[in-house]
Amino acid sequence: MTDYQQFHRRSIDQRDEFWAEQAALVHWNKPAEQICDFSHPPFVKWFKGGETNLCYNAVDRHAAKRPNERALIYVSTETGEEKVYSFAELQREVERMAAIYQALGVRRGDRVLIYMPMIAEAAFAMLACARIGAIHSVVFGGFAAGSLATRIDDAKPALMVSADAGMRNGKPVPYKHLVDEACSLAQCPPQKVLIVDRGLDKGFTRVDGRDVDYAELRAKHLDARVPVTWVESSEPSYILYTSGTTGKPKGVQRDTGGYCVALAASMKHIYTGGEGETMFTTSDIGWVVGHSYIIYGPLIAGMATVMYEGTPLRPDPGIWWQIVEKYKVDVMFSAPTAVRVLKKQDPAWLRKYDLSSLKHLFLAGEPLDETSHRWIMDALGIPVIDNYWQTETGWPMLAICRGVEDSPIKLGSPAFPVFGYDLRIFREDGSECGANEKGIVGVVPPLPPGCLSTVWGQDERFVSTYFSVFKEPMVYSSSDWGIKDDRGYHSILGRMDDVINVAGHRLGTREIEEAVQMHPAIAEVAVVGVADEVKGQMPMAFAVAKDAAAVDTAEKRAALEKDVMKKVDAVLGAIARPGRVHFINGLPKTRSGKMLRRSIQALAEGRDAGDLTTIDDPGTLEQIRAALKS
Ligand code: ATP
Ligand code: MG
Repeated sequence: MTDYQQFHRRSIDQRDEFWAEQAALVHWNKPAEQICDFSHPPFVKWFKGGETNLCYNAVDRHAAKRPNERALIYVSTETGEEKVYSFAELQREVERMAAIYQALGVRRGDRVLIYMPMIAEAAFAMLACARIGAIHSVVFGGFAAGSLATRIDDAKPALMVSADAGMRNGKPVPYKHLVDEACSLAQCPPQKVLIVDRGLDKGFTRVDGRDVDYAELRAKHLDARVPVTWVESSEPSYILYTSGTTGKPKGVQRDTGGYCVALAASMKHIYTGGEGETMFTTSDIGWVVGHSYIIYGPLIAGMATVMYEGTPLRPDPGIWWQIVEKYKVDVMFSAPTAVRVLKKQDPAWLRKYDLSSLKHLFLAGEPLDETSHRWIMDALGIPVIDNYWQTETGWPMLAICRGVEDSPIKLGSPAFPVFGYDLRIFREDGSECGANEKGIVGVVPPLPPGCLSTVWGQDERFVSTYFSVFKEPMVYSSSDWGIKDDRGYHSILGRMDDVINVAGHRLGTREIEEAVQMHPAIAEVAVVGVADEVKGQMPMAFAVAKDAAAVDTAEKRAALEKDVMKKVDAVLGAIARPGRVHFINGLPKTRSGKMLRRSIQALAEGRDAGDLTTIDDPGTLEQIRAALKS
């Protein structure tokens, strides 16, 4: 057994002892009476009876020891603002925000809905909730009024925090306007709306008696001191909706103590970040990666965190690396989709800056294909670690724990079960798969600390959605399809709904996409299964060429299509060959960068594209419609 295997084994076999040790990474006002209460499966309570506070662990305890060290680095390439907050400054801002909340009547257990662009005030708003024991529900700033209204009615917030506008690609995007619309659509609109006026949208209107101005209230509470509210470990810290890739989003409820400990342990053993170091996570606070690794994780570890408002390509494709050089970033976290965007740019952008501070790049959110994995690792010259997890789990389920051991990286594989997760691959009858046998990725309960405690307000949905795939045994289902090789490296093959059945052979969309992506002319691809009279289902590919000139005539498209099919034949065999390879300029994705395969498949089968509330660029669907007619 390797050191890591022993570490992992102990986290399962000596569960309570292991987690009691990890719990010492954070501050407790009162220690837990019981490490793990699993008396009502599948529900679990971690660190029962213990009292802690997320804001205290993320801010106060560092401010007390290292007040002048940097905590929050805010960079906006949209407005040109750049500001560094020390731990002491961050604490004061959070206390002001907390005082404003209290003045507006927010109490422990109340919900606060945060609908904000990537500005420092959004971080203050989240941490201020944690400080007073209020529950935040951050809604991604790109969502339209309808999606926002649904989330308002689910959380029933006492307060909403928003801004006049965000900025994207140099243009203001109105927020306040959408808040007004959502409040009029909602059954249970909040009593108060706090607005950070950035001066970007001069035309927004204020609702008397409901809307209040942040700058005005902040000035009144400049000297406010708000002590932290110690909460019991299981009290909810936040609600967060899943990305909605497969349909209606689920409201994930997170606890406090378990989450705090899981994040601290992940920073130490997976992301290898500590005091005095800097982390740059290129996600958005509206997603789980933003919650865990822009805000809470790095701060709990005493790191400085970069909060970036902007795109990876403006003012030029070197911007991320310029930030890495300027702030001496040690740990970076991004998504495969971003790597595929960068891959289309000149690699010289990556060599322009001094990246010697960077130890690791972590990628999560979508399958990382081998070609992109190799490309980014060669370009940066550092280990690039794929990690697999979900909004539900809050932190990685599969990764290489670089803080424990340096196992070799296997390209395109998120590697091993993370400590705390008894993760296995299951057959559909609930028995366990052998090595190299495809199956459902599941976790034997109890779920470790940090994972969802339930679906907000819907305990039955928690059980039926996540723990009912097999009659026996009771297992948490990820709804993803995966495989483990004989060395223990795991690969995610796609979502269970995306499995394609060609003449009785089951193929993961991911496997075929991987093969298509091995063709040097291809930047990105989505493969879906389309109903076929003869074979049951037939794979169909929608690909984006690295160079648009390679597919600008019908002849070139036909030639490349043939060539791509040959590649698939060579890698997987003719059984996996797509019936067609269509070329388009961009693929439909959710706002968080995940491929909307269900919509592509629906169009390919001549059906309606379905729920599109989370789509980033609806124009991509038009291209698919046009390609299908060709
Ligand atoms: P919904 O559950 O609402 O349909 P979603 O599953 O896209 O949305 P998230 O929780 O943001 O919402 O995404 C988690 C999913 O992303 C995983 O279940 C998996 O399908 C995919 N994923 C995340 N990381 C990886 C990875 N490293 N490799 C492969 N797939 C990944
Ligand atoms: Mg999901």
